[in-house]
Amino acid sequence: MNSSVLVINCGSSSIKYALIPAAADQPRLAGIAERLGSSDAFLKGIDSRGERFEKALLPGVDHTRALEAILEHLEGHRPAAVGHRVVHGGERFTRAARIDDEVIATIEATAALAPLHNPANLEGVAATCKLFPDLPQVAVFDTAFHQSLPPQAFRYALPEALYRDHGIRRYGFHGTSHAFVSERADALGGIEGGWLTAHLGNGCSTCAVWEGRSLDTSMGLTPLEGLVMGTRSGDVDPSLHAHLARQLGWSLERIDEVLNRGSGLLGLSGLTNDMRELEVAASEGHENARLAIEVFCYRIAKSLAALSCALPRLDGIVFTGGIGENSPLVREKVVSHLPHFGLGLDRTVNAQTVRGREGRIDGGHPAAPRLWVIPTDEEGRIAEETRQLLDETTP
Ligand code: AMP
Repeated sequence: MNSSVLVINCGSSSIKYALIPAAADQPRLAGIAERLGSSDAFLKGIDSRGERFEKALLPGVDHTRALEAILEHLEGHRPAAVGHRVVHGGERFTRAARIDDEVIATIEATAALAPLHNPANLEGVAATCKLFPDLPQVAVFDTAFHQSLPPQAFRYALPEALYRDHGIRRYGFHGTSHAFVSERADALGGIEGGWLTAHLGNGCSTCAVWEGRSLDTSMGLTPLEGLVMGTRSGDVDPSLHAHLARQLGWSLERIDEVLNRGSGLLGLSGLTNDMRELEVAASEGHENARLAIEVFCYRIAKSLAALSCALPRLDGIVFTGGIGENSPLVREKVVSHLPHFGLGLDRTVNAQTVRGREGRIDGGHPAAPRLWVIPTDEEGRIAEETRQLLDETTP
């Protein structure tokens, strides 16, 4: 398929979009509609000249109306297909799927595992089906790349019936990002290697990839497991819920809210979930900002060391995501916690590899694992998987 794909990432009150042309050197139109349903909904984005725009949307605007407003900003381009990011594909989807009634029903059935995300993703599907009834629509799942995990990595040590009857297992997320950067690391290194990938943004996860297959990852049943994130706690003692309920009388909703939205960098620092602001505050002597960065980096290193058990050989570590791509400080601290990996860090190159630059930041020693910074491209990957699937299935 040789034309553009509209990529849609739909949240409960937002729609992120990107029109991805077939040729990599063509400009992308992209943006986000936010605060849908509220009185101050707005749309902002970037046009084909690279200029930014922002405009208010009607109060109470729904997903279909917001998509109509987005279409006006596609400058007359008509996509050939729509690729949807869908967060949870359960065990049913090991790759992208062309959307039909059966696929919609399966995504609905998986909503119990991702109650905040899957219903919102389906709203996006319904809205685009209404506006483009004749275009093929494809669902690309965050979980699909991790369906190659072996049982020893995806099973929790819980009674078997919880897995068999209720699907309670580790699924992993950020699959499109881990797939994209590990494939790029293979291409850059000229090998199908063993990579540890660290996607560090507002959400954070690590992944062990061997010959293009995910063998383990830090997120689990939900995206709360694993690393410290912007506002999510990551791993805590599983008894914490019972403790907070019994000792403090907290409701399940409150515990969920605190662990998902009031913890992580924000909770530790008491200041912000934004790593840029934390780095400034820490340099000015803010003790809790410093602690938040230390815990964040130590936990990343600990996770990478644990995931290295999944790999027959470690060829390198890849940093990506807003923090992974832009914070030399975080990368240096993570590397400093892994002396037994024999890593070398070129501090000058590390400092220069920011703002969307791809680069190898280790010292170049041939026997040492490589360290790469690779900007992720989740939208590009969703468009590519959409094209691939349609090429294979369209007569
Ligand atoms: P993402 O979710 O991938 O967009 O990443 C968001 C995170 O990236 C936020 O915590 C930002 O503070 C962080 N970030 C973006 N730019 C920088 C930077 N120059 N230095 C440190 N962190 C950054």
